[in-house]
Amino acid sequence: MNLPTPDSALNGIANLRLPAWLLPAGWPLQAGEPVMADLRFDAGKISSLQPARAGQTDLWDAHGALALPGLTEPHAHLDKTFTIGRSRPSRPGLLAAIETMHQDRQHWTAEDLRQRARKGLALAAANGVTRVRTHIDWFDVTPPLAWSELADIAQPGITLERVALAPLSFFADAEAADRIARAVAESGKDCLLGGFIHSSNWDPAAMTNLMRSASRWQLNLDLHIDEELSPVAHGLSWLAHYLSENEVPENKWRGHICCSHGCALASGSEQQAQEVLGLLAAQRVTLIALPMTNLLLQDAATGRTPRQRGITLLKEAQAAGVLLLLGCDNVQDAFCPAGSYDPLDTLSCALFALQLDNLFDQQSRLICDVAALTGDAQTGLPLAPGSAASLVIFPDSDSLTWPLNSAARLVFHHGRLTHQRTWNEDLSHES
Ligand SMILES: [Zn+2]
Repeated sequence: MNLPTPDSALNGIANLRLPAWLLPAGWPLQAGEPVMADLRFDAGKISSLQPARAGQTDLWDAHGALALPGLTEPHAHLDKTFTIGRSRPSRPGLLAAIETMHQDRQHWTAEDLRQRARKGLALAAANGVTRVRTHIDWFDVTPPLAWSELADIAQPGITLERVALAPLSFFADAEAADRIARAVAESGKDCLLGGFIHSSNWDPAAMTNLMRSASRWQLNLDLHIDEELSPVAHGLSWLAHYLSENEVPENKWRGHICCSHGCALASGSEQQAQEVLGLLAAQRVTLIALPMTNLLLQDAATGRTPRQRGITLLKEAQAAGVLLLLGCDNVQDAFCPAGSYDPLDTLSCALFALQLDNLFDQQSRLICDVAALTGDAQTGLPLAPGSAASLVIFPDSDSLTWPLNSAARLVFHHGRLTHQRTWNEDLSHES
């Protein structure tokens, strides 16, 4: 494959194999698979998406390579990332990781925070990510240093969202809840209110304060909720019923809500899960599954093989019509010593942990669906005419084995090649 010249604007790309979920209705099939696509660019945007035609000599030819729109990382922790080298928990599990994170905070200077977060964003960009949502821990009702330090660490090609992650106990007092929400609202766009909601801090009055303060300050929410396997975790069930029973009048504002983790859905009864999922689907709540950290932190005990997977009911949620995404969560910190800022690694993990099939044509949506993250119903399909000409090409992959063996890739932002990682076939030889 001849690569295009980095940084020169392309007229477009011919012969791309795009996933079925991304293509407009009526797209022609051949042997059950979508035919190749030609994309034309104009001023960094898509100007047309058509079934491939021969003779498009002004377009760069991708020769049938798989391609996706810019990838989404819906759940990261840039304030904690890359701290595993200096802070390793002495016990397995979520609560031990939280203790270790508090010990590591002594190192969180402005320079330390920025250097680690920039490294994470640079890796994400090289992997083809165009949108990152990071949670940032708050330690009292005023914004922490990381909140301001991570506000302007621009990485070309990436939109960065910040979520204020405060334990639910901070919302027990209505005035304190309002102070947090106000500080988030005054931090500018791309900021959300969040919370850590767990059976160890469960407080329905604090939940009500959290919901009311988000509404008052017109904030979207992204909650760490039910990150546990306890059958008595109340968070998601309470939220689903609260949203259903407190319908917002037409002239009032209710933001979009993402619920991250939701592991406890896998511990209750089928009937409970179906009821909650049905309510979440009706309220257009997005569920974000985080397979890597859940597999590492749930049902974790020293010297014992975990018996439970700890991952939310993704297939049941899909069947119920719940909006869904997959995220990496922690990367190389006390919560998860591994991790890569590559959504393909997350999807590969989900493939086995959740026994997913039809990975490229259907499930790749779980790492690309910006509309599921923002809740913006007006957002059309990525790569539709008028959208950004930003995409990732997997030059050596095939639709049967993707996302495995897919480290090689070409990343295009606004019609220009910005990152490439390819195999050097010239170096291969027989021993
Ligand atoms: Zn998280």
